Amino acid sequence: MRYCFGIDIGGTTVKIGLFSISGEIIDKWEIKTHTENQGERILPDISESILNKLEEKKILKSDVNGIGIGVPAPVKADGIVKNTVNLGWKYKEVKREMEELSGLRTEVGNDANVAALGEMWLGAGKGQENMIMVTLGTGVGGGIIVDGKPLVGAHGAGGEIGHLCMNYEETEKCGCGNTGCLEQYASATGIVKLAEKRLKQDHVDSVLREKSVSAKAVFDALKAGDAVAAEIVEEFGRYLGHGLANLAVVTDPSVIVIGGGVSNAGDILLDYVKKYFQEKAFFANKNTEFILATLGNSAGICGAAKLIL
Ligand code: ZN
Repeated sequence: MRYCFGIDIGGTTVKIGLFSISGEIIDKWEIKTHTENQGERILPDISESILNKLEEKKILKSDVNGIGIGVPAPVKADGIVKNTVNLGWKYKEVKREMEELSGLRTEVGNDANVAALGEMWLGAGKGQENMIMVTLGTGVGGGIIVDGKPLVGAHGAGGEIGHLCMNYEETEKCGCGNTGCLEQYASATGIVKLAEKRLKQDHVDSVLREKSVSAKAVFDALKAGDAVAAEIVEEFGRYLGHGLANLAVVTDPSVIVIGGGVSNAGDILLDYVKKYFQEKAFFANKNTEFILATLGNSAGICGAAKLIL
């Protein structure tokens, strides 16, 4: 049997998976991300952990195809990242350093693109070659797969769906410095802002007035029949659905996969997004399928492993 490793480096933990090259997860575990001293220990820690695992499982290095790594930063095929705030890294040659440390071939990708690749390989997008994946968490992440390959681009910033401009009138700033980004309306924090704005408009009864609002509370209220929550989700659906329609006309996906914490709301979320997608989709894109992600937070390690295959 041949093997590969998939690594998903986050700001607090590094997720590591040992895979067979046919896509079976043999083992997965986590180690702490040591971000101090510009994250100098991160790659040596990972290398040590995977070499220990090979010894434990009595697997020869020569039976390992290599290591795929997802990092929370724009990254190109050369595996070099510049200024990864979450990890403390400045300029870092991730691919070269990891190959030297481990003696194994290494490929590096952006974490959102890599998660999309994971869903395409082993999850909701299995068997698809053209896919958009949106991750609705604290922010809005995205990965676009065209003809089986992640769209990386000239600056490694391809697929940064969260920063599509969706509202020209917005005055509040997005984390990226622009105004009116999709992330300001469709992320968990964006939904809370939409809710706060709506609740201030009048005094119509809503369970959302009783406690502090979260994205989950909005969807729970919607499911319980709360009319104000329904208005908030309509607005969320409009921003995300229209944004995805714009993307679909450029990338022509067969499927759009929606993941991240907010997607735990379930199929009801898809109903609202699909409605507004349909409203603005180009005629050739109208039948694009919508699916919830299935791999949860394992999407990153799965896609990272796929990078090396
Ligand atoms: Zn932005």
